[in-house]
Amino acid sequence: MTDCRFTRAASLGEAVDCLQQAGGEAHLLAGGIALGILMNEKLLEPSWLIDLSRLEDLKGIRLNPDGSLRIGAMTTHREIERSAEIAGAYPMLIEMAREIACGRIKNRGTIGGNICLADPQGDPPVAMIALRATLRAVGPSGPRDIAATAFFTDLYTTALTKDELLHEIQVPAQADHTGAAFGKFSARRAMDYSSTVSAAVRLVRDAVSGRISDIGIGIGGAGLIPIWAQATEAALRDNRPDGDALAAMREALMEEIEPIGDDLYSADYKRHVASVILRRTLERAYARAAAVGGADKP
Ligand SMILES: Cc1cc2nc3c(=O)[nH]c(=O)nc-3n(C[C@H](O)[C@H](O)[C@H](O)COP(=O)(O)OP(=O)(O)OC[C@H]3O[C@@H](n4cnc5c(N)ncnc54)[C@H](O)[C@@H]3O)c2cc1C
Repeated sequence: MTDCRFTRAASLGEAVDCLQQAGGEAHLLAGGIALGILMNEKLLEPSWLIDLSRLEDLKGIRLNPDGSLRIGAMTTHREIERSAEIAGAYPMLIEMAREIACGRIKNRGTIGGNICLADPQGDPPVAMIALRATLRAVGPSGPRDIAATAFFTDLYTTALTKDELLHEIQVPAQADHTGAAFGKFSARRAMDYSSTVSAAVRLVRDAVSGRISDIGIGIGGAGLIPIWAQATEAALRDNRPDGDALAAMREALMEEIEPIGDDLYSADYKRHVASVILRRTLERAYARAAAVGGADKP
């Protein structure tokens, strides 16, 4: 076993300094769930661990007066699931947090650790893609905003540089007549994390025509990265979600996803599941957008 240096950062600046000094050899410790598994399995032998647990700057949930939302990177899945502010303004995120694993993992796992792990099965990444969130990184030259749609660059790889960390997630205020929903397929819930397929949908429904005027779609578990389904969004934009539009949506989705078969499900089966989950999630988001001028209550 190699020696591992350990620093419990006392400030954001110290964490960034350590990252810079380590030149790409350090790992940030958030909830430690993924890191613990990787280290136990000897898939990762970090030479420096930088613990973020004391950084109050990275914690907390704030609903801003303009209706936008700020979630600190060290906020746990449980805190999101139980947040009254999120429940009121972004209930899709409550639906998403409820789907994550089990109590033990929700209590320790953080939204920042989850997003930075960039697991293609992760639930927060697809929700943030659909909501058009901005991920605020901090590095030696200060803050840098990265669109969630551009954050996931390859398998377990993000747009963060070696000396940056994720500070917070900023979700824009939702327009009137917005509906959003999160859907997930998993046969055994907590333990079949590697075989899940998920869809997050946020849409704006024109109050008169019923057409979808704006839409965001994220798909999980259907490729090497959490997928921003741009062509699928385009197939639905300016349409009502029925008939030809649903057929075009399915066709576009099949082009955009590339699921990987595993012990439980074949790639073809996951393709089928992705299209069913997306349609059902879209229907829920659309129905919610119709209710009370766009409140998307789960
Ligand atoms: C059995 C099991 C089931 C699970 N089921 C689900 C599920 O259903 N849905 C789901 O979405 N997730 C699931 N997860 C993942 C879990 O929810 C955690 O979010 C995830 O493992 C990482 O969170 P963490 O806070 O423990 O991160 P850590 O393990 O501490 O860190 C993960 C990675 O992110 C980096 N990192 C952490 N914080 C930052 C930061 N602020 N800036 C930059 N890099 C950072 C770390 O260096 C590390 O590389 C599951 C995990 C397990 C073990």
